[in-house]
Amino acid sequence: MKKILGLLLILLTLQACKTNYYTRKTYDFKKPVDTRDKKIDFQKKGKFKIDEITVANDFDGARMNAFSKINDTLYRVEISPENYPINPSPWYAFKISSTVDKDIYLQLNYLHAKHRYNPKISSNRKDWKKIEALYYGVDSVSVSFPLHLNAKPQWIAAQKIINSTDVKHWVDSLSQNKFFQEQKIVGKSVLGRDIPYFRIGEGSSENKKVIILLSRQHPPEVTGFMALQYFVSELLKDDALTRNFYKKYDIWVFPLLNPDGVDLGHWRHNAHGIDLNRDWAYYRQPEINAVTDFIIRKAKQGKNQVVLGIDFHSTFKDIYYVYNENISTQLPDFQQFWTSSIDRSVYPFKTKYVASDILQPVSKNWFKIQFDANGITYEVGDNTPESIIAKKSKAAAVALMDLLMRF
Ligand SMILES: [Zn+2]
Repeated sequence: MKKILGLLLILLTLQACKTNYYTRKTYDFKKPVDTRDKKIDFQKKGKFKIDEITVANDFDGARMNAFSKINDTLYRVEISPENYPINPSPWYAFKISSTVDKDIYLQLNYLHAKHRYNPKISSNRKDWKKIEALYYGVDSVSVSFPLHLNAKPQWIAAQKIINSTDVKHWVDSLSQNKFFQEQKIVGKSVLGRDIPYFRIGEGSSENKKVIILLSRQHPPEVTGFMALQYFVSELLKDDALTRNFYKKYDIWVFPLLNPDGVDLGHWRHNAHGIDLNRDWAYYRQPEINAVTDFIIRKAKQGKNQVVLGIDFHSTFKDIYYVYNENISTQLPDFQQFWTSSIDRSVYPFKTKYVASDILQPVSKNWFKIQFDANGITYEVGDNTPESIIAKKSKAAAVALMDLLMRF
């Protein structure tokens, strides 16, 4: 009798654990962040004309807050954030042209930040070239550079422009792939833009272990998004490794968590003025609410175990943000093995490894508290060459599949 009672107790406890696993929890982090709505400033959109010159910010992803003339050859564009305080990621993007051929100096002038992103220029919005000759103003709150203008508009931006339409085209371009499964809109942003999702795997996802990929919580972090793109294209290759891998695993991708921020040319926040990567405790913002709710409901439906979440970002240098060694997860030692395997592939290029406790309500920490999974923030440097991004992502995808097959 005692044995039966004991067994019953174990079964009940297991059931309770499972119920908890598939119920979204709120969590009081050691370093909480208030993510209730704040007001933002919308930039005035349009074409701004001085003399023969036109500067335009009338496209998705643009940011350019004012255009003025300083003297006969020097013109200024002003760049300001959506609200303040804010991280120093002064994103800008605009088009410039002149009805007559003209050589000018253009000054980028920042409010609440110093110059960070070296300007890139493009005549077709696809091929970008770095502008090399920069003259720094006092305290780097401005930079100027020479520019030749003519009637053909040129785009100038902090990084190459990848807006919500570009992300949609990219996802659509993958849809014929054998391992590309369902594609869905999991929710809407504050201003009603789509939050896209797709699944990579083979056949049904039921009972499979799941890896979650996230990107673009922070709009200017384009190099991190490029890393996700290369990572995904490696995961979609049809070979022995992927065929084996998808028997056991399924990958759920959320490539654009902050579509309003991206299209409005924000430095950091969503349209409620909030850093979405601080909202993974109370889900106050619709973007994080939709994504977390979808992940948990889908996992419950398919009896999936979420084992790993990777969130792609950009910062000054390449960094892996991981957990301290004393934090145990379902994948013991995975983070060390995985990152050192990636590093070997791009030697002597170095990526910093930063381990910490569960302190802030960021996605990386949410994977641990919600699913006892491993969470990693994969940061790509602002200036990391695309060849390195591609090589690293490819190695990261191969090493990920190879290692996870051993768990
Ligand atoms: Zn970020």
